Order: sequence, then structure tokens, then C-alpha cells
Amino acid sequence: MGECWGEGTATFMILGNICTRSCGFCAVATGRPDALDPFEPVRVAKSVKIMGVKHAVITSVDRDDLKDGGSLIWAETVNAVRRISPGTTLETLIPDFAGKWENLQNIIDVAPEIVSHNLETVRRLTKQVRIQAKYDRSLEALRRLKKGGMKTKSGVMLGLGETEEEIYETMDDLRAVNADILTLGQYLQPTPKHLPVVEFITPENFAKYKQIGLSKGFRYVESGPLVRSSYHAEKHLF
Ligand code: SF4
Repeated sequence: MGECWGEGTATFMILGNICTRSCGFCAVATGRPDALDPFEPVRVAKSVKIMGVKHAVITSVDRDDLKDGGSLIWAETVNAVRRISPGTTLETLIPDFAGKWENLQNIIDVAPEIVSHNLETVRRLTKQVRIQAKYDRSLEALRRLKKGGMKTKSGVMLGLGETEEEIYETMDDLRAVNADILTLGQYLQPTPKHLPVVEFITPENFAKYKQIGLSKGFRYVESGPLVRSSYHAEKHLF
């Protein structure tokens, strides 16, 4: 599955359309995932080439059903893009691999230009927003990625009921693991079955959070109502 965002950036989702998790904000279907497609990496890479993508953002459903968490297909996809479309840079928006760090290492080994892992929300709301995830496990994933030499990025949705203080604590937690890039965007409810929007954050507050994030040491902060994790992704190469 691919989506084009203009300016030479496109997003691709791999490892199927069905996720083993059921996050309260996400419209992706939960259930038993499809069988793995060993040709997916080459198909994605060929699409990248044909579409003339300069910067590819690759994401996936979570595959907690697989021993390797899908990390080998992930790594092969990065390698295939490098092989078939060598001028394309890559951002991989990866899962936490359920804390199986040998699977995270498979990503570090192929060294995408940017590796993202989203916290999605503040510590207090994590259980409600990402029921199978853990706030500290996500921070540990980001810490390990940074230790492995990656440029790291994380996204947080606002408007789920977090306080301003909690937003700053989340920024501090991300800086404590040396995350380089932060995205802050407005949460929107995809269907009535998903978590409700508690608050619409004003553009002025998004602008304030950007300045505060930069003052805390993030290299880039994208902060605005329409910001999503792949927003201006091509600008985060440095
Ligand atoms: S793990 Fe990712 S794809 Fe799966 S439900 Fe959560 S946000 Fe959606």
C-alpha cells in the first residue's frame, strides 16, 4: 500500500493490512494477519523506483504473531529500495517489536536514514490509547536506536486529554533518550468506535509547543493541527 505526499515523498505500509494490535486511535483492522509475502520488499522497491520517490517513508502493521516481528521483511525492504532505487532516502516508522531487541537490531543493521517510533501519547494515557504498548518500552526502543547510531524521531497526538505539563514531560522523556525529531499533531477520531477527541489544540498552542520543543534540544519539531508523522519528512534529513 502506498500514498504520495508530494515533494518526492511517499509512504508505504508493509506486512499486510491487518494488525495484531488494537490501538484506540487507529483505523487499521485488527485480527489475524495475512501470510507474509516474501516478494513484498522487491514490489515496494519497484514502486519507489517507478514513482520516482526521493524520500520513502515505510511503515507497517504490528506483527506480534511472528518470531522476528516482521523485522526481516523490514530489513529486506530497506535493502531492496537501496538496490533498486539507490538515490532514495528512507525513513522507517517501526513498531516496538514487543521489546524483542534482537528484532530491533535487524533495523539498526540496515541503517535507514531516519528511524521513527511513535510514543503517540503521554505516559498516563498510553494504556488507553495503545493498549498493547508500553510507554517505557517505546522509550527504550528509541534509546537503543540512538545508541545504534540512528537519527530518531517520534510523534505524539494531542487532544486526547493530556495536560500541558504532561506534554512537556513527554518532550523531556524523549530528549532523555536523545530523540532528534518530534512531531505533534491534532488527534482526529477516525470512527465513532474510536477514542473521542477531548480537545482541539489551537494553532497558537501548537506554535508554542514547537518553540518549547526546540528549546529542549530537538533538532526539528513539526507542530500543527495537520501534522502527521510523515509531515515534511524529507526535511528531517541532516
Ligand atoms: S500497532 Fe500501529 S497499525 Fe496496529 S493498531 Fe496500533 S497504530 Fe494501528
